[in-house]
Amino acid sequence: MAMMTGEQYRESLRDGRQLYIDGHAIADATKEPLLERSVDWIAEGYDRFHDPAPNAAGPYYDIPGSPQDLREQLEKLLEWDMVTVTTSQGLLALLTAAARMRDQYPEYADRIESYFEYCKERDLRGVQTITDAKGHRKLSPSKQPDPDVYVHIVDRNADGIVITGAKMHISAAGLSHELVVMPTKNMKPGEEDWAVACAVPVNTPGVKIINTTYAPRGHAEYHPYSGRYNMPEGFVIFDKVFVPNERVFLAGEIEHSATFAHSLGLWERLGGTAHLAETGDLLVGLAQLVSEANGIADVPHIRDKICEIIIYATLVRAGLEAAITHAHATPEGWVYPSELYTNAAKHFGAAEFSHMVRHLHDIGGGAILTAPTMDDLRNDEIGPYVAKYMKTMEGVDAEYRMKLFHAVRDITADTYGGWQLVTMIQSGGGLFAQRLVAAKHYDIAAAKRLALEAAGLA
Ligand SMILES: Cc1cc2nc3c(=O)[nH]c(=O)nc-3n(C[C@H](O)[C@H](O)[C@H](O)COP(=O)(O)OP(=O)(O)OC[C@H]3O[C@@H](n4cnc5c(N)ncnc54)[C@H](O)[C@@H]3O)c2cc1C
Repeated sequence: MAMMTGEQYRESLRDGRQLYIDGHAIADATKEPLLERSVDWIAEGYDRFHDPAPNAAGPYYDIPGSPQDLREQLEKLLEWDMVTVTTSQGLLALLTAAARMRDQYPEYADRIESYFEYCKERDLRGVQTITDAKGHRKLSPSKQPDPDVYVHIVDRNADGIVITGAKMHISAAGLSHELVVMPTKNMKPGEEDWAVACAVPVNTPGVKIINTTYAPRGHAEYHPYSGRYNMPEGFVIFDKVFVPNERVFLAGEIEHSATFAHSLGLWERLGGTAHLAETGDLLVGLAQLVSEANGIADVPHIRDKICEIIIYATLVRAGLEAAITHAHATPEGWVYPSELYTNAAKHFGAAEFSHMVRHLHDIGGGAILTAPTMDDLRNDEIGPYVAKYMKTMEGVDAEYRMKLFHAVRDITADTYGGWQLVTMIQSGGGLFAQRLVAAKHYDIAAAKRLALEAAGLA
């Protein structure tokens, strides 16, 4: 087995997978205009990491063995495309779940470890397929009028299981090779059929994926960020999909139904926090450049707002650092980040993100939305007017200033910006989930002791 090149990755997508977008079937994902750039981005990653040696493997298959490994992995992750990130996070989550299940279910733990090697040997990309359709939010899976709103086992035989249901918002699903399916929540007695975790190749009969994307539908130049970095989300339908035993990691053991989501939540929130820290610094940079280009960098209320974004970005990064520094080790010697710091930092970063974007919008002004396009600037008739009125001072010409505004709009106020606002909140399971996990891992007894002492009650 060897690593794939970008071209081999493109070829691997022509495997009979059933993809849809905007109401039509996709014959070849590599030629679909709204997916083309996403495919290129992933293919570029394959070419970048490609090593022809027979047993070579990409760094996204590294298992951190120390906090320093974890830190280095997070730094690398910021440069990977989305599906390479989900491959690493999803497999680390599976391994974390295997470590937590090994005592009780060694066979499942062994299957997970074999599956990890299977993906690594073939240089496959995988996505985390967790969030169910969920129907009426207050009803548990077994009480739903339609049992399929949570993915469940509809048949079992000696060779494997058959599953039906749908998983929503699955990042990069249509451009990946493997769907790593896990239960979205804890299942109760009587809900054994919904306690299912397994791995399904994207081209398995019965799998259909409806794609949505924030890839620009207009001029790529007008979307300097999302024109280069975009990835579809998949609405993944499982219609009586057969899964062989060696790919089944849970099939009815309800006591471990939440183990997978908790393990993944941890890795996804750690990656989300790293992304928030990076984006916080990006917001600082944009706010500073725009204020300089507008001549207001030294105005007190502008400085104040930029300072607030600086403090935000620094505190998110501090939480990330603490999550790594206080990492724990599994009996196998694999390292996973602190639940408390990961969840607290992710919650803070996500909850305050829109507030920081508000500061950037306040500082930037209306041209964030209305700066003309570069084609307007290049037009012989109107271009000179655009150049004249978009210039603010010596050294800040129209092109420079317009490119800054286009970046701010694209990253925070257009299709990708809207995607980002919601994703910061919902990725890794939403704010409430992060509060619950942070509170669960906080040392409340120590806090109470402190309070009792302060009150003279100890
Ligand atoms: C861009 C994007 C990418 C994503 N990528 C992935 C991915 O790759 N893989 C994946 O598995 N998931 C992915 N997700 C899904 C994400 O994890 C979910 O959106 C998130 O967990 C919230 O679930 P939901 O969207 O079904 O919203 P809901 O569950 O409907 O939640 C909405 C609100 O209702 C509240 N709520 C829901 N149920 C109850 C209840 N019973 N009682 C009280 N309050 C309740 C929630 O706390 C929340 O405040 C992605 C989401 C987005 C936006």
